[in-house]
Amino acid sequence: MRYVKCTKYGDQKGRCARCGRHFSRVKDPTIDHITPRSADGSDDPANIQLLCLGCNSAKGARCE
Ligand SMILES: [Zn+2]
Repeated sequence: MRYVKCTKYGDQKGRCARCGRHFSRVKDPTIDHITPRSADGSDDPANIQLLCLGCNSAKGARCE
């Protein structure tokens, strides 16, 4: 999962997928499943996005 995070960090140019906030460190963003695992979402990178803490908690879906 850490590998996916680094890949996505590059894909999103170090920015939150929602608000565009820039992450200063690769460990800052949180991993979000676009389709929640509770709804059969996979761990495929295509289903992963990085959100800042604020956006992730606003969305309400918890993930690792
Ligand atoms: Zn955000």
